Formats: sequence, C-alpha cells, structure tokens
Amino acid sequence: MNRIFSGIQPTNQLHLGNYLGALRNWVRLQDTAENFFCVVDLHALTVPQDPESLRRSTREVTAAFIAAGIDPERSVIFAQSTVPGHAELGWLLGTLTPMGWLNRMTQFKEKSGKHREESGLGLYSYPVLMAADILLYKGTHVPVGEDQKQHVELARDIAGAFNRRYGVEYFPLPEPVIQGQAARIMSLRDGSKKMSKSDESDYSRINLTDDADAIALKFRKAKSDSDNLPDTKDGLTGRPEAENLITIYAALSEQSVDQVVAQFAGSQFSKLKTELADLAVEKLAPIGARMRELMSDQAELDRLLKLGTERAAAVANPILRGAQDLMGLVR
Ligand code: ATP
Ligand code: MG
Repeated sequence: MNRIFSGIQPTNQLHLGNYLGALRNWVRLQDTAENFFCVVDLHALTVPQDPESLRRSTREVTAAFIAAGIDPERSVIFAQSTVPGHAELGWLLGTLTPMGWLNRMTQFKEKSGKHREESGLGLYSYPVLMAADILLYKGTHVPVGEDQKQHVELARDIAGAFNRRYGVEYFPLPEPVIQGQAARIMSLRDGSKKMSKSDESDYSRINLTDDADAIALKFRKAKSDSDNLPDTKDGLTGRPEAENLITIYAALSEQSVDQVVAQFAGSQFSKLKTELADLAVEKLAPIGARMRELMSDQAELDRLLKLGTERAAAVANPILRGAQDLMGLVR
C-alpha cells in the first residue's frame, strides 16, 4: 500500500499555487493510499513568526485542508510539532547528511538571499527536517509542487544514506508526485518568481479566502505585456505573464493549455483577466466560505487536530524506535 505524506507551512494565507500545485492533488490521491497531511509548523519557524499569527495560521491551514476536500476521517490531518518524532528523527538524519548536499538546495539560497550569514540554522537544515517528516511514516509518495522536488530528492538520498550506513532497507525511497500543468504557478506581479505565501506583496497572489472584489482587482492589476494573446502555444514563449494566466485558466477549467490558447487567440489581455477572475471566484468561493465556517468553531478544529496527532503518533513512534535501535541508542 502506498503511503502519502505531504505538508503545507502555516506561514500566511494559502494561495492558488498551493491549491493547484498541492492541495487539489491531495484530494484526488486520497483514495489511492494511506494519507498523512501535515500542517508543518516547525518549518514555519525557520523564518520569524508572530506567535499569535502562527497559531491562527495553523488552524486556518487545517480548515483549508478540510474545505478543499481532505476528509479527516480517511486521511490523517495534524500539526507537525505535536508529534515529537519529527524533530527527533530530524536530528538523527542530520548526523548523516553531508553539508555539501544542503549547499545545493535552491530554496535556502532564495530564502536567505543576501543575508546568508544571519539566516538561521533551521532554514539551512529545513530539507533534513522535511526528510524526517516523510521517513517518519515510511512515506512512499510525496505530492508537491515543482519547487519542492529537489527536497524530496534529497529525502531519497538521505533514506539511501541511512540504509547503507546501517545495512538494511529500513526506509523506502520516497518519490515526488508532481501532477498536472499547474505544478508551478507564478507570481501575478513577476512572471519569473513563483507565487508564494511569503511574498511581501498581497497582489502577487490569489488567497483562498479572497472575496470576489479582491480576486478581480488582483487579476486586473496582474502584470501583463502589450501584445494581444497568441494563437498558438509556441507564442507564449518569452511571455511568462501570459503563460502563467493561461496556465491558471487551464488548471481551473480543467482544460489543456492548447484549448485555452485557442479560446483566447488574438484577444486582449483584459478579456482573459476578466474571465479568469470569474472562473477563480466560481472555484474558490465555496472553499473560502467553508473555511470561514470551519474557523468559527475553533474547538472542533482543535479536536480534529488532536485526533490526527494520535493517529500519526501511533504510526510514527514504532518507526522512530526502529531507527534508534539500528543506530545503537539505548532506550
Ligand atoms: P512559503 O513562501 O512560506 O514557502 P509557499 O507558498 O512556498 O510558502 P509551502 O508551504 O512552502 O508554500 O508549500 C506548500 C505546498 O505548495 C508545496 O507542495 C509546494 O510545492 C506547493 N506550492 C507552493 N507554491 C507553489 C506554486 N507557486 N505553484 C505550485 N505549487 C506550489
Ligand atoms: Mg515554500
């Protein structure tokens, strides 16, 4: 039986990229495997967090999982920090991860930017904790957006390093599952940057809780170029903003990029933007509404999270103990 592990950081509001690149695929994979969907709060702490916002975001991301269609009965939904095995296995795996491997990680380079010397150790070792997240459940498949592929590949390498060091096939080598054309949605302000929760500009992204006016305004203000839309897919080359909006339209309407290019061939950008806003409102409004409903009953969200913690720990603890035994730790 396949075992899926994936997570989202409670760093801010979830956006269209998280939905199309990750969450929507989780919902579809739900029936094919045993699923662990995690609100990765320890990862969120790798950049400065206001404690109150972190608490709110943790519940909000939980609500988003459920609102998007993750069923808390069939899938295990929980917060990372409530299963201490994540941090413990993270330490153990860190002892066998060469720094050279971490030096290649592009997310660290992007997130630390010009402040490498001042950025925290946690931001640097983030991929090791992510490997622990997956391996703690002996996860076999990890549905993520394109940006996380490198980290899942590192998790494979770390699993292999552990197995070689201790001479047993203890951890399966997890595989990234990257689905569909929406694996990398770009910022609405800059077609060369991915849409991110941590982008300073709220105009760079569509949040799952944005109302119809905000969605329309953000698409209207989205960066574009001065040409009309092309009549072939090749015509999108070198036009990242046009390509991004067409890709979003295709993903939301569940059509191919070719079909959408044909639909808007020769039109002005403004036509695409208006129709895209209508489509996004139609698809996101029910999710936003359900999120607000779920957020109004915090006790119920906390109850579901606690249930998830218990189910996750029941799987994680014996796997952690097995790793500790292999490594020679006396318990
Ligand atoms: P942050 O800026 O805090 O890193 P994020 O938007 O990158 O936030 P994450 O919590 O790091 O979100 O990632 C959650 C999931 O969403 C991952 O599977 C990631 O690959 C996916 N994802 C994030 N951004 C995009 C995007 N722009 N397009 C498609 N998938 C994305
Ligand atoms: Mg990210």
